[in-house]
Amino acid sequence: MKWNEINWPTLLFFILSPIGAIAGVVYVAMYIGFHPATIALTVFMIFATGIGITGGYHRLFSHKSYEASKLVRWLYVFFGSAALEMSVIEWSYDHRNHHRYVDHEKDPYAITKGFWFAHILWLFRKRGTGNREEVDLNLVADLWKDPVLRFQHRFYIPIALLTSFLFPAAIASLWGDFTGGLLIAGLARTVWVHQATFCINSVCHFLGSQPYSDRHTARDSWITALVTYGEGYHNYHHEFPVDYRNGIRRWQYDPTKWLIFAMSKVGLVWNLKRIPDEKILAAKMEMREKKLAALAEKKFAAAGFAESIAAMKESGERTLVRIQERFDALASSMKEMRKEKKSGSEIKDLRKKLIRTYRLHEQKAIELMREIQRGPRAAAAA
Ligand SMILES: [Zn+2]
Ligand SMILES: [Zn+2]
Repeated sequence: MKWNEINWPTLLFFILSPIGAIAGVVYVAMYIGFHPATIALTVFMIFATGIGITGGYHRLFSHKSYEASKLVRWLYVFFGSAALEMSVIEWSYDHRNHHRYVDHEKDPYAITKGFWFAHILWLFRKRGTGNREEVDLNLVADLWKDPVLRFQHRFYIPIALLTSFLFPAAIASLWGDFTGGLLIAGLARTVWVHQATFCINSVCHFLGSQPYSDRHTARDSWITALVTYGEGYHNYHHEFPVDYRNGIRRWQYDPTKWLIFAMSKVGLVWNLKRIPDEKILAAKMEMREKKLAALAEKKFAAAGFAESIAAMKESGERTLVRIQERFDALASSMKEMRKEKKSGSEIKDLRKKLIRTYRLHEQKAIELMREIQRGPRAAAAA
């Protein structure tokens, strides 16, 4: 990167803010003391501003995975601004490009350019240089229509300073802790939320499994979900970005999903988009077959046993294909039923059958994998 391509204000901010945050924490610890109410405010701000990004900037504005009332949109804009990650318009522009060009040259935070590039270094390049494009409003025309988002985009810096620093300081001054509010709930919290949300672009494309697709680098991991407000189920998210959930199982840690769901129960948000089960399970089945094929390939290469493995694979695959056909038939009648808006109990019955078929596929695939793994040894014994 050339000197004149560096975004100096951003770079300076990311050098100075962590230093300031550490100094701030030390200062408060030594001279003022941590006020319990300020600690509570900090925890609140960590969640409110983080979910402003994940629930607001990401799942609502960038992906339109649900619709929200004015109040909720306002709150997202307010707390999202306080995360200091630029305006909804700019953020969504980058994010939509991330999905469109994932892992390729035009992906603004492509992991293929290195872990640290995806985490933070991409931000240090001035817009209009290198792969960092100017914001093209055509890609975010739907968002540009919203006067609140246009206002936030135009006056981002003052709004951000107000919401991220002055707001927590003013609240904390209610219990006489203006400085603690500014340094802990403001500055230190900003640094924490930055690193936590940046993990979505770095760690979530690096650590974990790929149960839904290997066409991109995104990965599922409950560990990253813990730091990223539930966005750690990133393999699922890249495969099905319109789903309002990232962790689709009820127990998977995705507080962003839980909040959206809870808000839908009291009418604050609606039209929550969910990918139908049969599509999700089909993706998982496809991935499993891919893994099976890769394993067989590897074993073929291990010389001498190609024939026995080929025979094993062939007979096993015939079984899998039969199960798959049954699954497809169930899935298409499920789709029909949904179209005809059939009763809940009928769909439920069908869903049970579908899941049973899926499990059978899983079981057979695992058996076959074991068999292939063992293959050469068994043959050698004979
Ligand atoms: Zn991603
Ligand atoms: Zn996304």
